[in-house]
Amino acid sequence: MQRKITLEEHEIPTAYYNILADLPKPLDPPLHPGTKQPIGPQDLAAIFPMELIKQEVSTERFIEIPDEVRNAYAMFRPTPLFRAIELERALDTPAQIYYKYEGVSPAGSHKLNTALPQAFYNKQAGIKRLATETGAGQWGSSLSYACNFFGLACKVYMVRVSYDQKPYRRSMIRTWGGEVVASPSTDTASGRAVLQRDRNSTGSLGIAISEAVEDAAGREDTNYSLGSVLNHVLLHQTIIGLEAKQQLAKAGVYPDVVIGCVGGGSNFGGIALPFIKDKIDGKPIRAIAVEPASCPSLTKGEFRYDFGDLAGLTPLLPMYTLGHDFVPPSIHAGGLRYHGMAPIISRLYLDRLIEALAYEQEEVFEAAVLFARTEGIIPAPESAHAIKAALQEAQQAKVEGKKKVILFNLSGHGHFDMSAYDAFFSGALSGSKMVA
Ligand SMILES: *Cc1c(COP(=O)(O)O)cnc(C)c1O
Repeated sequence: MQRKITLEEHEIPTAYYNILADLPKPLDPPLHPGTKQPIGPQDLAAIFPMELIKQEVSTERFIEIPDEVRNAYAMFRPTPLFRAIELERALDTPAQIYYKYEGVSPAGSHKLNTALPQAFYNKQAGIKRLATETGAGQWGSSLSYACNFFGLACKVYMVRVSYDQKPYRRSMIRTWGGEVVASPSTDTASGRAVLQRDRNSTGSLGIAISEAVEDAAGREDTNYSLGSVLNHVLLHQTIIGLEAKQQLAKAGVYPDVVIGCVGGGSNFGGIALPFIKDKIDGKPIRAIAVEPASCPSLTKGEFRYDFGDLAGLTPLLPMYTLGHDFVPPSIHAGGLRYHGMAPIISRLYLDRLIEALAYEQEEVFEAAVLFARTEGIIPAPESAHAIKAALQEAQQAKVEGKKKVILFNLSGHGHFDMSAYDAFFSGALSGSKMVA
């Protein structure tokens, strides 16, 4: 029995899969925050390169990956697909469990899959510098790596509370050459306005987005970059599912269920969308999006138009949302603290093409520890949500005596989250309210 199913560099997919070509019902258009009218490409051109704007609205089924990007991917792709033999044994389940491991990327998660093409298309458009926000730091460090790879400058507005609590993500951003400031900062008018009201503001993703957008809109040489939620981000992430499909075919199996954790929806979309195409074509495959009980956009949210940020500066997107003023508790899975959900994932959930589950922190960390003690890899707390759902599916398979095939995405490693593991071991994770 093979533990690891690998691909050669020449087997890196040559095109991304675009689900917009196959959705039974098309997405409703994003609306202008002021006029509430559908926005066009020109509305986005101030902060995004035209190639990414085209991808955002394209209905071509496959979109070619430029050679320069495939070359950049080859630094860590194809990523391995593991058969979780030790975990299966521990669970004594007839199910086969496979996981795609995105933690082998230099930044430690799937986020480089979109950071690299985003940096490339901006470079190609003559842009010299990218501005972005980051919460816990995973996206900021990924964009810093990608900008360095393609020779762009990078400015990261990092939410003050994470800037102070997660110093090593901040160090990664600097190591790859990016500039990082705590947000709210004095570098932008929106940051200064917040500081004037509250000198000790700990910041928020909403404030940091406002700062990065203001930075990008105010400079000719600078664009803005977003790490999740948007159609083109999910498009880039489909490289995960496309590789996994080839790897499972090598192993001679096809999954009964595909699982991923959801923050903004990009890694789940990445692994699931190529399989959802098969479901739309009639295959009986299930896909499960897993979220924290404390930030339950799909399971408890409402489907409607909402802003992407707190201040209401971004276009209105049709999505499941807890409200753009919802402030989730400081749970350890920082990457899953988003009030909304990608419009593509929202549409699929509305049309019952995917399922959703929500778990409490404690049960998620129990699953993470079982995984580390069987498979060895210490998972990111975000990814552990997917592990928990995979465990449940495997236990169910045992009850039913079914040989089902489970595939989940292990979106990243947890090497920067060890204080959260310590909190779990000391019994300090009660419900979902624990602060790091
Ligand atoms: C950012 C992040 C997530 C959540 O973001 P999505 O866009 O929903 O994928 C999940 N896992 C890891 C490791 C992350 O860094």
